[in-house]
Amino acid sequence: MRETPPKIAVGSFTVAFLTDGLWRNDGGCMFGVVPRELWKREHPPDEQNRIRLNLTCPLIIKGTDAILVDTGIGNRLSSVERKIFDHADGWLPDHLRALGMEPGDITHLIVSHLHFDHCGGIVRRRDSGVLESAFPKARIFVQQGELEIANNPRNERLRAAYKAAQEIVATVKDQFEAIDGDTEIVPGVMAVRTGGHTADHQIAIVRDGADRFIHLADIVPTRSHMRGPWNQAYDLDALRSMEEKARYLEMASDNKWWLSFAHDDSVFAARVKKEHGRFGVTDAVAISETLSA
Ligand SMILES: [Zn+2]
Repeated sequence: MRETPPKIAVGSFTVAFLTDGLWRNDGGCMFGVVPRELWKREHPPDEQNRIRLNLTCPLIIKGTDAILVDTGIGNRLSSVERKIFDHADGWLPDHLRALGMEPGDITHLIVSHLHFDHCGGIVRRRDSGVLESAFPKARIFVQQGELEIANNPRNERLRAAYKAAQEIVATVKDQFEAIDGDTEIVPGVMAVRTGGHTADHQIAIVRDGADRFIHLADIVPTRSHMRGPWNQAYDLDALRSMEEKARYLEMASDNKWWLSFAHDDSVFAARVKKEHGRFGVTDAVAISETLSA
């Protein structure tokens, strides 16, 4: 049994911070144009130039609604891929159980985009090798444009980025509900299209009165990415990522909103403060070190 995921209250909603576990990815890919000499201070690379990352999946709960945002990598990777990304089976099912919940309790899934580290946990691989739905009762919301690219990637780069998505979409295609632009999933919970990281990347926003929580997914994957030019090399439109994150970070610091970070290895979520023109975090919901033990 894993430790109980930390929670915050957002008005009448509870947001629990689940993780699909820690993993590693190339530091250069994660920081784009930023020189290694700058990012290595806060993100020490291993001998393969990989940095430690998390797979944060916020679970938004109110009444019988349980809305999971992103699903991590899951257990579908081959043994070679598991070594490359230093990821094992995926911890989401254990973390749900630690909350007293089962995969069948998830009513909605908001998937920010269809890269393997966000949509991989939509399915589970059985010992027999067969893939099945990990959250069989969930309605799965993704932008129409993401599904179109997954089904018909038009060049080598998109083909590589959406390789996992094809088998995942095929496995649970009846659960997918394509949306086009900003959409209310349940009252108070929105999926909002930002673009930037992918053409149709979306974020999740919980709103109740003045309280707000936003999962910015790959618009601000770690705290370091709060700096304007620190964007992933994967971003298809890095300028758009910069503009969107500047807008949301300003609003979050002005209004004391909660933000969560898709891949930060020490902070699930925090409020944002702006000091001397730079954004930092306050009220951090920390990822405990025992998580990685
Ligand atoms: Zn990601």
